[in-house]
Amino acid sequence: MKTEEKTILDFDSLLEQSAEIHGHLCPGQVLGVKMSMLGLREVGISDPRGKDRKSIMVFVEMDRCATDAVQSVTGCSLGHRTMKFMDYGKMAATFLNLKTGKAVRVIAREDSRQKAKEYFPEIENKYEAQLEAYKIMSDGELFDVMEVHVKVKPEDMPGRPLRRIKCDSCGEYVQDLREVQRNGRVLCRPCADTGYYESVGQDIF
Ligand SMILES: [Zn+2]
Ligand SMILES: [Zn+2]
Repeated sequence: MKTEEKTILDFDSLLEQSAEIHGHLCPGQVLGVKMSMLGLREVGISDPRGKDRKSIMVFVEMDRCATDAVQSVTGCSLGHRTMKFMDYGKMAATFLNLKTGKAVRVIAREDSRQKAKEYFPEIENKYEAQLEAYKIMSDGELFDVMEVHVKVKPEDMPGRPLRRIKCDSCGEYVQDLREVQRNGRVLCRPCADTGYYESVGQDIF
């Protein structure tokens, strides 16, 4: 069992895979892979893309290079509803074991950037130094870990949509209870508030 776990969550092969999926090897891949291995270990998940695939959910607080590594290692994705993007702009992610409820939030330590430079003072390129240093730095040097409690709402869980309902303003359908009730009308979020897009005229189709 021990050897099997080792092959599943082996740092070098996970880094290779994530760099391939992401498109390049970068400090973010190293951080993301290590962050994920640590988070999974802390919540008792050994085979996230195999037998444990229905037990894991991850909340990423950044949309940066490391996010792709988290997706690659954990197998969690937006499309599976097992990866939630929390737009906090922080280099942090929470790993939740859905079976046991155990969750840990892993945060990249700010001083790890400076320490990386000290590990490889001869490497002038800061990015290169980080890449090499992050590979050999310990989890304790790279991250802080806090145990947390995460409550996932039924409408945020994987599985069939809980409801589909038509927006009274634009006529488009909204699923998973994302609609807003306003003055007796059912509205989608962009109609109720402001969306990220503005129509520029006639529909193309
Ligand atoms: Zn990158
Ligand atoms: Zn609408």
